[in-house]
Amino acid sequence: MATKVLIVDDDDISGNLTKDLLAEAGFEVELLTNSYKAIGLLRANRYAVVLLDILMPGVDGLTICHQIKKDPELKETKVVMVSGKSFDAEKERARQYGASLFIEKPYNVETLAQQIQAIVDSPAAAQPAEAAPKAESLSAKDAALTLGLWGCRSAGPRSSPSRYGRRTCCFSLDDGEHLLIFDGGTGLAELGRRLESESRREAWLFLTHFHDEHVQGLPSFSPAARRGFSLHIAGPSEPGKTLEQQVAAAFRSAPATIPSVEAAIDLYDLLEDSYDILPGVKLTSFYANHPGTTLGFVLSFKGRTIAICPDGELYGESATALQDYDDKLAKLCRGADLLVHNARYSGEDYRTMRNRGHSAVPSVVELAGRAGVKKLLLVHHDDGYSDEAIDRIAAAAARQAAEKGYALQVAPAREGLSIGV
Ligand SMILES: [Zn+2]
Repeated sequence: MATKVLIVDDDDISGNLTKDLLAEAGFEVELLTNSYKAIGLLRANRYAVVLLDILMPGVDGLTICHQIKKDPELKETKVVMVSGKSFDAEKERARQYGASLFIEKPYNVETLAQQIQAIVDSPAAAQPAEAAPKAESLSAKDAALTLGLWGCRSAGPRSSPSRYGRRTCCFSLDDGEHLLIFDGGTGLAELGRRLESESRREAWLFLTHFHDEHVQGLPSFSPAARRGFSLHIAGPSEPGKTLEQQVAAAFRSAPATIPSVEAAIDLYDLLEDSYDILPGVKLTSFYANHPGTTLGFVLSFKGRTIAICPDGELYGESATALQDYDDKLAKLCRGADLLVHNARYSGEDYRTMRNRGHSAVPSVVELAGRAGVKKLLLVHHDDGYSDEAIDRIAAAAARQAAEKGYALQVAPAREGLSIGV
């Protein structure tokens, strides 16, 4: 039996367009242009979903939504708000009144029916999604690689404990044979401890740049103190500073827990280019929008495409024609299985933190969604954010992806997790 949908929209043209689209997709659709009659019609017909315009003469959409949700007989009806108003405050109100989804007009005609179907299929869609999405949920069932999250904060440690962890950036990719590490923040020390119980004698370490938060774990990376261990370090050089000088300085920085470097270390200078680093593993490095020479990486590994860019500022909607980092990244990660990107600030906080080399979450979600990225992991959480703040930011990011109709899963990174890719 076809799913019954009611559209309440005072605008005949847009209402009929929506009606035709959903009817074509197999829904049984009715259009009502007189908002006063909405509740009566809902009682008489039992629709699974109602699409409500917000601005209508008579009763406005939010009021109807509120009436539906407080009515014991109607409250199971799933409500989708459709509006040309795209203010965050409006979306928040819709959510508080119990709407399952907020779709901005003009909506994406290709994905509208899918979005409505997803709402129909969701078990408790009457409940607004409050909980932050969990990074675990990004794990692929048919994983070929394991992504390890060893540190995902901007700076630390702070004294207060956090569910998301306090260590600075370090991520690993492991196919069971080769271990590739990205950045050497304090998370690297923990990864080193984990490697002590393994027989592994070799690892690659790719450094995006040499700001403290990305290299301060090197002098505490215990495998570097082991004779017989091979550490291949690849990264950029700065004008006037070679890679060798920068790596040596990083190993000398305090606090150090390893007595001396005994491992065999070889260095690879990276430019904006592509490299065959191992059989079947291609690395493309690119310059990221961040103070100093900073790289991001795209890996083609075991049939997966993974982009990792812990530091980089997307300009999002405010990008000018000369600010091409957004475009470059979008091209590089088009269709990627996973994007791990700097998302240090909420959209609101970013307004006062522009031009420091870090991104706002909404810009990262937008870029990933448009580029057809499958999964997005938000990293480099601001050290000033509480767990609850990160929860809220992550929930808003997931809503943003759903409202835009992107086939994108998004979650905040959490220290200590392994995710199948
Ligand atoms: Zn940096």
